[in-house]
Amino acid sequence: MSKDNLNNNKNDEDFIQVKNLKKHFKVGKNAVLKAVDDVSFNIRKGETLGLVGESGCGKTTCGRTVLGLYEATEGEVLFEGVDIHSLKGKDKKEFTKNAQIIFQDPYASLNPRMTVGDIISEGIDIHGIYTGEERTNKIYELLELVGLNREHASRFPHEFSGGQRQRIGIARALAVEPKFIVCDEPISALDVSIQAQVVNLLIKLQEEFGLTYLFIAHDLSMVKHISDRVGVMYLGTMVELTSSGKLYDKPLHPYTQALLSAIPVPDPEVEKTRQRIMLEGEVPSPINPKPGCRFAARCKYAKEICHEQRPELKEVEDDHFVACHLFDE
Ligand code: SF4
Repeated sequence: MSKDNLNNNKNDEDFIQVKNLKKHFKVGKNAVLKAVDDVSFNIRKGETLGLVGESGCGKTTCGRTVLGLYEATEGEVLFEGVDIHSLKGKDKKEFTKNAQIIFQDPYASLNPRMTVGDIISEGIDIHGIYTGEERTNKIYELLELVGLNREHASRFPHEFSGGQRQRIGIARALAVEPKFIVCDEPISALDVSIQAQVVNLLIKLQEEFGLTYLFIAHDLSMVKHISDRVGVMYLGTMVELTSSGKLYDKPLHPYTQALLSAIPVPDPEVEKTRQRIMLEGEVPSPINPKPGCRFAARCKYAKEICHEQRPELKEVEDDHFVACHLFDE
């Protein structure tokens, strides 16, 4: 398969298609941790798809498998129509240029012994995009693009604040001019005051370069701000997927309703009347999970079928997908 095939699929709706993706890890002799267990969704060109859920729900594993950093146990990830897990040689290298990641921890993700300029240009060097003066100018341009300045190129990561380090991580991802970026909890490790700045920078860059994001987070309020659509994961499964507006105005899955009820509302009058839905029951283990709905042990609406049959993700309203037996016809 040639590079042209990688670039010529014009179907924006199906820019990235994740089909029945599974990522399982063997734990000990007979146990299997089903971190991602039969998840399907698409990412439209130029959009931000938020992926949310409690820690351990599989969202980070899902993002990394979509990028090919983990081999899929089963299922497919199609990037512009081509299964990324089948790529080899120069096609694989081309995909790694087109699909980048911004990591959660801006402290751990930058090599402390490299200058900022060398960190940013790693991808440029690997892919042989620029050399000499052009390379230096590109580093300066990237630093300025993310709100830093050219003098920062010769400094080391420890000389920067958390927010500045995340800006360096963003510049590094942008250096190879990607089409798609997985933002893996890029603001979780930052002060609240800095979080909005980094999110606004990501939005600005998306508009400027037509980027597509998979934005992984457990902070639901920030996800709402940046995402066009949001997918909610629970124990390795996708339980709800719809536009950001619909999800926050009218969540349909009992788990999403509980998650959203926990977010404080800025309006004091509304906040007074907010009713928090407390989740009961233990969070089940993703190791050898029971059959049926993964949320059944904590769901106040659980009925017999919920313990026997896993609900499929189905479109119950226009562009609003839910996996719950309450919506069976
Ligand atoms: Fe609750 Fe059943 Fe729906 Fe699962 S399928 S969320 S247990 S009602």
